[in-house]
Amino acid sequence: MCKIRTETRLCFLLVMILAVMLAGCGSSPAAESGSAAGGNPPKSEETADTAKSTEKAGGAAQAETARAAAADTAADAMKGASGETASAGETGVQTASAAATGSTASTAAASTASTERAASGVTGSTAEQAKEYAAQSRGLIVIDPGHQQYGNPDQEPVGPGASETKAKVSGGTSGVSTGVPEYQLTLDIGLQLRDELEARGYTVIMTRETNEVDISNSERAAVANEADADAFVRIHANGAGSSAANGAMTICQTPGNVYNGDLYADSRALSDCILNAYTQKTGIAYEYVWETDTMSGINWCRVPVTIIEMGYMTNSDEDILMQNPQFQEKMTAGIADGIDAFMADRTPKEH
Ligand SMILES: [Zn+2]
Repeated sequence: MCKIRTETRLCFLLVMILAVMLAGCGSSPAAESGSAAGGNPPKSEETADTAKSTEKAGGAAQAETARAAAADTAADAMKGASGETASAGETGVQTASAAATGSTASTAAASTASTERAASGVTGSTAEQAKEYAAQSRGLIVIDPGHQQYGNPDQEPVGPGASETKAKVSGGTSGVSTGVPEYQLTLDIGLQLRDELEARGYTVIMTRETNEVDISNSERAAVANEADADAFVRIHANGAGSSAANGAMTICQTPGNVYNGDLYADSRALSDCILNAYTQKTGIAYEYVWETDTMSGINWCRVPVTIIEMGYMTNSDEDILMQNPQFQEKMTAGIADGIDAFMADRTPKEH
């Protein structure tokens, strides 16, 4: 109804605000006392995080000062001039803020967007601030690329205090068509997964980064335990007598595991999340989550743990597929998506 008059008033306000800004930029005692304008209080931690991101973006103090000053001025002017409604006041503040701070305001807007994306776990081509934000909060993942160049048949207990023993680490399988050994595939995917998770804002520790190591399964679990990892992800590929066997599975302990049955729910959730996301991303068939207490690397574990068997190296199609670089990107992204899903409703441990 009085749209034209409102716009005219807003223009007038803007000019006033700009004048105040130009005069007061730098010292600005108003900013220190500065409450936000009517109807626009800080909403949540998200708001605080946005402010943090803005600081990182540079020109921080100035941006905050300018914004607060503009907000105060706008609020005062609004109150004094017309008694506009709260929403009109808010519009005035936003407009004034944008006008007064120029590119800083758009930086703040970008920060808000990227912070929100980071907070919702969605990644993409966002600003660096999103990664910084994520790095502070997303968690610590230990990756164990299964096996090593030479297996070690020496025995170790299958769990803490167990009399039953198993080989410290076995040799693994190999590609029926490519001839690639399992320990090489698991290292290749493990290293790519490390890079992908770090890009998504996680901290990553590898149990190994070369094939020339000698680390038993219990020692691999100890790496995850000592780090107090949010998740311990063990990378393997499957082998079977029948070349027709295909598909992916994940493995965790049973609820009755005498060593770490208390961690069953978390490990099962991790196993579900990773198998769902991995099969969805790659199109590899979903086998099942195998619950077993026969894996020493799981039994020794004191943090949420899963083994992913990414596909069958004894199946020619899957063997060849798992050596395709583009397909490996999907494998890596699928596992990372599963970790994202697992961590989505969890608070990372303090490290
Ligand atoms: Zn294996």
